[in-house]
Amino acid sequence: MTKRIPLVAGNWKLNGSRASIQALLAGIKTGLQNNAAAGELVVCPPFVYLNEIAQQLQGSNIIVGAQDVSEQAEGAFTGEVAAAMLAEVGCRYVIIGHSERRHVYGESDQLTAQKFVATQHAKLIPILCVGETLAEREQGITEKVIAQQLDAALQVSTIKAFVNAVIAYEPVWAIGTGKTASPEQAQAVHAFIRQRLTQHDAVIAAAVRIIYGGSVKANNAKEIFSQPDIDGGLIGGASLQAKDFLDIYYAAG
Ligand code: PEP
Repeated sequence: MTKRIPLVAGNWKLNGSRASIQALLAGIKTGLQNNAAAGELVVCPPFVYLNEIAQQLQGSNIIVGAQDVSEQAEGAFTGEVAAAMLAEVGCRYVIIGHSERRHVYGESDQLTAQKFVATQHAKLIPILCVGETLAEREQGITEKVIAQQLDAALQVSTIKAFVNAVIAYEPVWAIGTGKTASPEQAQAVHAFIRQRLTQHDAVIAAAVRIIYGGSVKANNAKEIFSQPDIDGGLIGGASLQAKDFLDIYYAAG
């Protein structure tokens, strides 16, 4: 069986100040000391702090990611940040199509797919978020929705793009709500995602990391991460406390 390196990413969203973020980072660094890294640990601060944080983390086991990116490379796109800029300041990962981008800012599957391509063009690794709303789950169309979200990315690239990509399954109803998908519910969707990619390339599908997000906490992480197709987590609220975040990270190891 293909060995997949677990990945735990903290999405700090629109939280913190320079002072609080430095304190959080210090807590994570201290907590990591003398502990062999079990997998990849990624932090995704707000854009304005990326440059200084990436510099501070050079040579450490903590990797920096961005929370979003423009689908455009350059030009008259006020307020946007290009993938090449993120690469230049030291990011390695970019969260693409987070449910807040899709549902609060109305970003479509097609725009998300363009961001996926732009990210890889800059040699960064997209963390492509997919997930259904509660209404979609209740209508029994979870797999249809996830398939459309995946297919949009496959249509503008190829299955080979998934050699350098991570997928995050994040049921919208579980994000920031305290409601977690049961390990079995999450595993069923992760297996569906892997199966769908297997139709294109079985080797790539077996190697791609599919992480889970949605109210993962220190006390439920182990059970969720122990599922065969769950390779770590995308963590929102609990990534803002160094100890909780590290406990979740070690649960994935
Ligand atoms: C997220 O924002 O991706 C997320 C999973 O948030 P939370 O862990 O707070 O549910």
